[in-house]
Amino acid sequence: MSEQTKTICPYCGVGCGIAVTEDMRFAPWGDAPVNNGRICIKGGAAMEVVEHEDRLKTPQIRGEDGELHEATWDEAYDRVVSEMERIRDEHGPDAVGFFGCSKSMNEENYLLQKLARRYGTNNVDNCTRMCHASTVYALRRSLGAGAMTNSMQDLMESADVLWIQGANPAEQHPIANSVYFRQAVLDGATVIQVDPHANKTTRSFDIEGTERHQHLQVEPGTDIPLLNVVIKTVLENDWVDEEFVAERTDGIEDLAETLEDFDKEAAAETCGVPLEDIERAAEAYATAENAAIFTGMGMSQHTCGVDNVQNEINLALITGNLGRPGTGVNPLRGQNNVQGTCDVGAMPNTLPGYQNVEDDELRAAVEEVWGFEVPPEAGLTNVEISRAAGDTIHGLYVMGENPIMSEPDANRVAERLADLEFVVVQDIFPTDTVAYADVVLPATSWAERGGTVANTDRRVQLMRGIDKVYEDTKDDLEILAEIGTRLFGDGTFDFDGPEAVFEELRQVCPIYYGMTYELLGTEGLHWPCLELGDEGDPYLYESAFTTPDGLGHIEGVRHQPPKEVPDEEYPLILTTARLIEHYNTGTMSRRSPTLNRQHPENFVDVHPKDAERYDIADGETVTLRSRRGEIEVQVQVTDDIKEGTVWTTPHFAASSANRLTNDVLDERAKIPEYKAAAVAIEPS
Ligand code: SF4
Repeated sequence: MSEQTKTICPYCGVGCGIAVTEDMRFAPWGDAPVNNGRICIKGGAAMEVVEHEDRLKTPQIRGEDGELHEATWDEAYDRVVSEMERIRDEHGPDAVGFFGCSKSMNEENYLLQKLARRYGTNNVDNCTRMCHASTVYALRRSLGAGAMTNSMQDLMESADVLWIQGANPAEQHPIANSVYFRQAVLDGATVIQVDPHANKTTRSFDIEGTERHQHLQVEPGTDIPLLNVVIKTVLENDWVDEEFVAERTDGIEDLAETLEDFDKEAAAETCGVPLEDIERAAEAYATAENAAIFTGMGMSQHTCGVDNVQNEINLALITGNLGRPGTGVNPLRGQNNVQGTCDVGAMPNTLPGYQNVEDDELRAAVEEVWGFEVPPEAGLTNVEISRAAGDTIHGLYVMGENPIMSEPDANRVAERLADLEFVVVQDIFPTDTVAYADVVLPATSWAERGGTVANTDRRVQLMRGIDKVYEDTKDDLEILAEIGTRLFGDGTFDFDGPEAVFEELRQVCPIYYGMTYELLGTEGLHWPCLELGDEGDPYLYESAFTTPDGLGHIEGVRHQPPKEVPDEEYPLILTTARLIEHYNTGTMSRRSPTLNRQHPENFVDVHPKDAERYDIADGETVTLRSRRGEIEVQVQVTDDIKEGTVWTTPHFAASSANRLTNDVLDERAKIPEYKAAAVAIEPS
């Protein structure tokens, strides 16, 4: 171990390099490849959770008295193994669900999904189901790969227009926004932001000397009609890249037909945005030399999430904005390893490398390396597993996730988890889900482990660990390998550390095949790396898409309102978002004094006219109520939000937005509609 260990920030998907000293302090990593030593408040405070006194320090088992009691690792392993065997004997392997997590590394998620499949089920999923499942679905189907098409570096250097829809990078990808996007704007790029909320990102582009920022403040859930106005404007003005469309795409006829009778004025009214503003944005995008789309959870977390992203793909394809630097459709992904968790197959429908588990040939190739058979049918997704808890699901293995807070309709999730026969929670802190656990396994934290993570632009990087802080904790990898060995005893979980796991991963994950720890070095590599020595691809699809026929797929889509719309009883639309100072369910960030001090409590943004209508004042505590629950939060009266819409966060346990959100799913990608629920508001 060196005096300073270079690793990767544990928080967002930007993947900034940071260093950790032997005495447990944060240190800058000056020439880190993504951020060159610059960090945001969250990265700077990341060490605060490593030595935190709340850390889980020893295994625990729930006794007959209903309480959790300290146990040895042997006792904990025995309980996990005997209960998993019992459930399999009594109900079959599909009676257990496995939750992976994007806070864990590639090797750990790889081993978790292998454990599930060796156990006999494909019921393994991870938290990316909740954020970008629809994006991944649409991108894979229509372009070939479920990931950012370009890299932050080439976008900064080459994009003339940044079209940011349903994303708030100033809060969620701070270094991407403040370094890459800001530099692009200073160099002359125009920003078009589409969001129901005026937020930090809106203000971050009010840069003196630049006047090229346009904010289209849409009604929540109206992204399809807005993009249809843009696309129809492109078609009407002959801004289509005819050569690109003819040579590299199919489906433009379907798009033209969908929009034949489309009424732009009526659509603009539905969106709540003046038609001329949308047309101006369309012209800026379509006439730019290079225009890039950034998409976030404001697009993906809808029952029409796949179609939302498809319409962004449509826009990029008809204008030829794919396949070169400064272009593309680029999902900004939220967690440290949010791309990698999917890459390595912690999903119910795909094996490592996005290989369809139901494809006999692909499955057989993986089975040959693993030495056992994989179930031939896709398993259940996160929300489906939670919904089936107590019914067909009897056991749950939770690694690094906190479903009690992270899933929509959280009150129901808690009721269902209480009905399970057996729950394992493997984490670094006593999450809210620990209340339902029968066995708690204390893991080492991000700073104490080594392995790889893939950031939002497909860059796979090495994390390196310092010495353990709490002696009786274990790495996720070691825990999973031991459980696999005790369950199966056939050598399929016999690994000597993360590099050995990565070596096996390479064999079953074609997009990672050309990587080794040595080749990753300190710079990392952008997948795909198909052969040893490949330098990786900072941008995809230069000569062809990676769809089966090599074409980019255009498909017209029509407006689909959210499943819940305002009515007399619930007259407002709730939309949700996150803050820079907090991270998902707050397991880590609420324990960080620096971060928690900035926002110790939840709040709700309310428009001044709604405040007047419901007789509530700035700073007052109100009750927000949906058909699924209620929370008490402090009001911020602000015209940042549109009249008729309120906005709050999921970070705080008692007042989490997810006590209100709707668990209705996009039918194809199975992502919940976090971004639109009908609510009522009243003084508490
Ligand atoms: Fe960490 Fe993201 Fe901040 Fe970078 S931008 S320091 S990765 S939280």
